[in-house]
Amino acid sequence: MIKSSYTPDNSFSTLVDDQYDVILIGGGPAGATVSALLAEQGHSVAVFERSTIPRFHVGESLIPETYWPLERLGLIDKLKASAFPKKFSVQFVSDGWKESAPFYFDMHNSHESSQTWQVDRADFDNLMLDNAVEKGATVRMNAHVLEVLFGDENNSDRATGVKVKLTDSNGNIETREVHAKVIVDASGTSAFLMNRMKLRQSDPYLRKGTVWSYFKGARRDEGKDEGATLIMQTAGKKSWFWYIPLQDDIVSVGCTGTMRAMFSKGSTPETTFERELQRCPALQERLANAERCMDFLTTKDYSYSSTQAAGDGWVLCGDAFGFVDPVYSSGVYLALKGGEFVADAIHEALTNNDTSAARLGCWKDEYAAGVENFRKLVYAFYTPGFSFGSFLKEHPQFKSNLVDILIGAVFKPEHDAMFAAMGEVLPPKDG
Ligand SMILES: Cc1cc2nc3c(=O)[nH]c(=O)nc-3n(C[C@H](O)[C@H](O)[C@H](O)COP(=O)(O)OP(=O)(O)OC[C@H]3O[C@@H](n4cnc5c(N)ncnc54)[C@H](O)[C@@H]3O)c2cc1C
Repeated sequence: MIKSSYTPDNSFSTLVDDQYDVILIGGGPAGATVSALLAEQGHSVAVFERSTIPRFHVGESLIPETYWPLERLGLIDKLKASAFPKKFSVQFVSDGWKESAPFYFDMHNSHESSQTWQVDRADFDNLMLDNAVEKGATVRMNAHVLEVLFGDENNSDRATGVKVKLTDSNGNIETREVHAKVIVDASGTSAFLMNRMKLRQSDPYLRKGTVWSYFKGARRDEGKDEGATLIMQTAGKKSWFWYIPLQDDIVSVGCTGTMRAMFSKGSTPETTFERELQRCPALQERLANAERCMDFLTTKDYSYSSTQAAGDGWVLCGDAFGFVDPVYSSGVYLALKGGEFVADAIHEALTNNDTSAARLGCWKDEYAAGVENFRKLVYAFYTPGFSFGSFLKEHPQFKSNLVDILIGAVFKPEHDAMFAAMGEVLPPKDG
């Protein structure tokens, strides 16, 4: 457990001013990144988080490129000192039992960034928010944003503040209007503004659902492979499992398939998980002596994007702007990297006294191009008959492009040739 520099009790009573430069809706990795980077530059920043962090969250496996935003945030030493298992590789298992050799990230790049971590998200998110507080941001828990306020004397579309419900440690509730020059929606899959402004578009090729839980005592590999993520496809590629080793001998295990298959009539999360487990002997063997230590959890239809990144006085970040798929563990990295893009755009906007949509969303094309690289590789993963092994046998020159994407180095133009060689690889439309 990471020691927090503030407690839930004093975060309930954090004083909230009436006016800030920037307000963040949500204190997950995206909100914590933007707020830390802006507070560090001297802007006044408030983060409103509706829950009490530390709080449970799915999304434990980091990818190597997360190192760079974490370094900019000054968090690498804290992660090195943490009990989070070190992750050196990802390993794929096809058809339920064929284990390929692990992809060791340091074979691709010998820099220390090749080693990353498997994190307990309650602890990791807490660490990130602590950092924002240390850099001068005001972070208020139990602060539920109910509304974004729009309209000033010149522009009826300009976001000008939020209406927020603040609950104190005695349960007293106060609803306040708090104003800011820029509102950042970092509310995760709640996607506060995207949903209210009807900007959401679902990905018709990725209509997926997931059932997951946590197990104690599962078999893990030894030495350098102990913290490896395993991506285990079931027989016939009907679904796949993640296997993410966490601290205290806990393993996060989740199964993803089409929504229809995962939530079929008459099934329960447990029967679905058990049914898919029967198609994955390699995982059965790892879980043979393990005990489940949490009820099954579910989530679905989480692949979406927004038609707009920003408007006058507002901007989206992290899952509140879009999410692709869990398979390559890209979510937290994109929340941090996107957080850097958004923080830099806001700093420029505030410095130039121009918080227009164009200025706040200036990063959109570069960011979207990187996300597209993840998306295309996700499509390839779900396409029946497509195999990375066969593709690389035919096109060995693209191995480093493939590894680049697996580590998260997606913000490079050099991947176009590889996707051209893959052709239009699309999974069936229903997922
Ligand atoms: C099945 C599944 C598995 C995944 N596995 C991985 C993985 O292994 N690795 C990985 O990197 N990513 C993974 N992800 C993705 C990852 O969890 C997210 O991309 C990441 O958490 C995004 O961070 P965020 O800060 O944008 O949002 P969040 O972490 O969701 O934070 C948003 C915060 O906003 C708060 N909030 C929401 N509404 C309001 C409101 N109205 N007022 C105030 N606060 C509000 C919420 O309480 C929350 O704390 C997975 C996702 C799924 C669906």
